[in-house]
Amino acid sequence: MPIWEPENECMSRSELEQLQLERLQATLNRVYRNVSFYRKRFKEMDFRPEDDLTEPADIRRLPFTTSKDVSDSYPYEMFAVPLREVVRVHSSSGTMANPRVVGYTRQDLKTWSTIVARILSAGGVTQDDVIQVTFGYGLLTGGLGIHYGAERIGASVLPTSVGRTERQIKIMQDFRTTVLCSTPSYALVIADRIEEMKIDPKQLSLKYVICAGEPWTDSMRREIEERLFVKVTDNYGISEIMGPGVAGECLEQNGMHLQEDHFLVEVVDPATGRNLEPGEEGELVLTTLTKEAFPVIRYRTGDICRILTDPCPCGRTLYRIGRIRGRCDEVVVIKGINIIPERIGDILEQIGGERPVYQLVATRHGHMDQLEIWVEVTERFFYDKMREQRALLDIMGRKITNFIGITPRIKLVEKGSLQREEGRVKQFVDRRD
Ligand SMILES: [Zn+2]
Repeated sequence: MPIWEPENECMSRSELEQLQLERLQATLNRVYRNVSFYRKRFKEMDFRPEDDLTEPADIRRLPFTTSKDVSDSYPYEMFAVPLREVVRVHSSSGTMANPRVVGYTRQDLKTWSTIVARILSAGGVTQDDVIQVTFGYGLLTGGLGIHYGAERIGASVLPTSVGRTERQIKIMQDFRTTVLCSTPSYALVIADRIEEMKIDPKQLSLKYVICAGEPWTDSMRREIEERLFVKVTDNYGISEIMGPGVAGECLEQNGMHLQEDHFLVEVVDPATGRNLEPGEEGELVLTTLTKEAFPVIRYRTGDICRILTDPCPCGRTLYRIGRIRGRCDEVVVIKGINIIPERIGDILEQIGGERPVYQLVATRHGHMDQLEIWVEVTERFFYDKMREQRALLDIMGRKITNFIGITPRIKLVEKGSLQREEGRVKQFVDRRD
């Protein structure tokens, strides 16, 4: 598969670090001059970008920028250019606080479409493809972000946007779609509907599904691949940083290459803010290196992942992030230990070969907190025989104890009995009050 910008995606690490340093210097100077939020902060800590930045790691001295900071600057306070230079504005949905508003200059849009072209190429897309984009076209960045990247490649873009699944499938058949861009759960909704409509998925022209937009699992990937006869890659974006394009998987399917010439990447302990080593799981923190209208310094994404530095057979030298494992705000603290409910699902999946429906329940007896894990029984996941069932529960208990350091009580419950909200089981219930 061709690499969209080999000169950038395959540069030596030392060249890349030099480029990052120069771009970081320029970015810090720009925000110091043009964004009062950052100028105030830098002044308070007596940080002068020209003198105090000698290597990219020096940025660790600077405070984080949070989603609240961006909300508080609603709508344009954190823009680094006058509005006349902004040619596009996007915004988060923001149900509670002010939405997070971001702007793009003409050059920003060029950068954006280029990095999306990189990740689409990495996922197999070429100018010969017909690409159906089922992300929302609107203030959110998903639809238009993918759209312009696909046009940059020269693929034929079908901007179908969200919803109306039967119409999506008809278009997929009639227009001979070869690439589907969707959330992983929507790809499965499409697979279900194709089955219901008695369409043979082998008769479709689909080759690739480019997934993004929500945390998902390897078993979901396998299911999409098996049911739609496609190869599925993962990609990551966040609107405060750019939208789609921040990182994307190549066809090796071993983690998402980060566009490190445009973003400086850190992973930190979500509780203490301490920088973690490659391979350690923590919160992703991003700094933009080339953005003009809305540069962001050390933005706490709230997304949990780890950095992978081992070489990728595809030839790209850009480091990768592993799958997003959940959100920091989903971290549950029991007996002083941070637990990500998604990780418990991973362990159960390893043991049973399929991801069960489960729920973590925290209870309190006297002053003692207790973790219960309620697992719904399925035919594939549990055998009928009591003895084998007990053995499986023992293995689960031991593996989870080894992993999180506290011993849970595992309870089997009937299929369909865990409470659902909008079709999804709540992963954590706190009954400690
Ligand atoms: Zn690769």
